[in-house]
Amino acid sequence: MADGTPVDPVNSVFGKPTYGQNVGQPKKVEMPKGLWVKCPSCGEMLYKQELSANLMVCRKCTHHFPMTARERIASLVDDGTFEEFDPALVPVNALGFKTSSKDYVDYVKSQQEKTGMNEGVIAGTGTMDGAPLSLAVMDFSFIGGSMGSVVGEKITRAIERATARKLPVVVVCASGGARMQEGLFSLMQMAKTSAALHRHGQARLPFISVLTHPTMAGVMASFATLGDLIIAEPKALIGFAGARVIKETTQQDLPKGFQTSEFLLDRGLIDIVAPRPILKATLANALRYMTAGGTAATKTSSPTETPAS
Ligand SMILES: [Zn+2]
Repeated sequence: MADGTPVDPVNSVFGKPTYGQNVGQPKKVEMPKGLWVKCPSCGEMLYKQELSANLMVCRKCTHHFPMTARERIASLVDDGTFEEFDPALVPVNALGFKTSSKDYVDYVKSQQEKTGMNEGVIAGTGTMDGAPLSLAVMDFSFIGGSMGSVVGEKITRAIERATARKLPVVVVCASGGARMQEGLFSLMQMAKTSAALHRHGQARLPFISVLTHPTMAGVMASFATLGDLIIAEPKALIGFAGARVIKETTQQDLPKGFQTSEFLLDRGLIDIVAPRPILKATLANALRYMTAGGTAATKTSSPTETPAS
């Protein structure tokens, strides 16, 4: 060049190469969205289809992922035997509840579209290892599994159906508690479900409560803890108030893990902690024992009592 700068024979022909920040770094492998899920407990990448076939339990660390009500029913009831009841029940906005952005009924509609369910519980009848039962399964993905008037009504009807047909009833719980938007109508469900269970018990018929992650507040303070047998999934969060509220109220340090299935099993609130792969067998065994000799419960009967017919 005329000014005496040495000429680079390559760059003068092909232009100056540009070096970005990514030079030398391995190319990021893109995972197809929706096919894989990361285990929040051990970090393992799990193929969704395989996870689903394994009842939503991590193959590496046995972390229990949440299940939808439909998945749960399919995992517990014999194929093709489930008959759903009251699928069309939907809540009304009895209190005229409205936030700044949405009417309660519109909010429920948006949740129905998101989840494909009309409410946070599915109830019906079916057989488990060949034995008939009435079943209600809550779904946490529908407004946190909160118990409003419809959830309470469907569970009550599942209990009353069981009483009328002399069947055992199983309720699988997953709930953050009462549904705030329905105020007092939500709280009344606690009394209604409990009263139905009392009548079911008087008919000497069994009720098994299954607590899954999480089961809290109003549900825990009513039917969830009224089971003749209370079974929980491992490491489920189970309690009434949240840990922070209890700590602030009592000004006490709380024991580690005090609201888990295992902690409550040790202290007698829960009877069995059953991992999901053996939940159906555990329930079926218990029901066989509790209904031995007929359809009536024998757990609390003395040998001289005759079961109700
Ligand atoms: Zn895991």
